Amino acid sequence: MDLNTVSAYRAARSRDDLMLADGERILGGGTWLYSEPQIGTTGLVDLTTMGWPALERVGDGLRIAATCTIAELAQMPPEPTWRAHPLFFQAATALLASFKVWNVATVGGNVCRAFAAGAMVSLCTALDAEALVWTPDGGERRLPVADLVTGNGTTSLRDGEVLRALDIPGHALRARTAFRKIALAELGRSGAVVIGRVDEDGRAVFSVTAAVERPAVLRYDALPDAVRLAADVRSLDGYYSDPFGAADWRRHVSGVLAAQTREELAS
Ligand SMILES: Cc1cc2nc3c(=O)[nH]c(=O)nc-3n(C[C@H](O)[C@H](O)[C@H](O)COP(=O)(O)OP(=O)(O)OC[C@H]3O[C@@H](n4cnc5c(N)ncnc54)[C@H](O)[C@@H]3O)c2cc1C
Repeated sequence: MDLNTVSAYRAARSRDDLMLADGERILGGGTWLYSEPQIGTTGLVDLTTMGWPALERVGDGLRIAATCTIAELAQMPPEPTWRAHPLFFQAATALLASFKVWNVATVGGNVCRAFAAGAMVSLCTALDAEALVWTPDGGERRLPVADLVTGNGTTSLRDGEVLRALDIPGHALRARTAFRKIALAELGRSGAVVIGRVDEDGRAVFSVTAAVERPAVLRYDALPDAVRLAADVRSLDGYYSDPFGAADWRRHVSGVLAAQTREELAS
């Protein structure tokens, strides 16, 4: 849709260009920004002209630029030691969107929009991704994506901060993973997404997203037994109701999906 309050557009090419004036807002892929009126926004600053490489190896991990598109991530060639690789495509399919959205929407835009059903939030949370945030004073800070997202549509980003990248550590990339998603309608927005992970040292991580208002991460020294996992998932805070599912349904199906991921990882 036309954003009729917006009268200025700037293509950012350096960090100085990311200093936002009053009324200016960062533009990622624009798929959400252009989907509804943005009252109070008078200018857009395009991040996609920063020229950041979409995907980079950093140490034994992976850096995903905030401007990497969901399609680029989903199509990343396999890496023999990265057993978690299938998760990139699986998580992308949890985004209710056509190929047109996949090709334009950025990973950073999905995380910063921070919907509970944010497919890239699910991926990043499951793989212990850290957000690299550029602060307006020229500095930077790092925090887990699970902490960056504070609610359904809210983040801890402060005015003028820009998400630069998402860093996934090597130990999570080398882990075995299992993915489950459910939605009320076949092509509907996710009602619950559960991702299980077992690291090389045997530690297990289960993340629950879409069903709860902010990402939930359960950590264990080893794969938990089914009873314990079910109890932990059931007792999470933040199950919520909206047109894509009732809170009690989300709580129940999260337990079922967690049991399935556990079984897959145990086999
Ligand atoms: C058809 C359709 C289906 C959708 N389905 C889903 C769905 O199933 N689940 C879901 O979670 N979402 C869904 N969305 C919304 C969705 O989150 C996005 O459209 C997409 O992920 C946003 O990415 P983008 O790059 O286009 O962000 P933009 O629209 O460009 O930006 C989104 C917000 O993030 C800010 N932003 C972007 N990048 C940065 C950055 N690097 N640093 C700081 N702030 C930044 C922008 O200022 C804006 O406030 C859907 C949207 C559409 C149009």
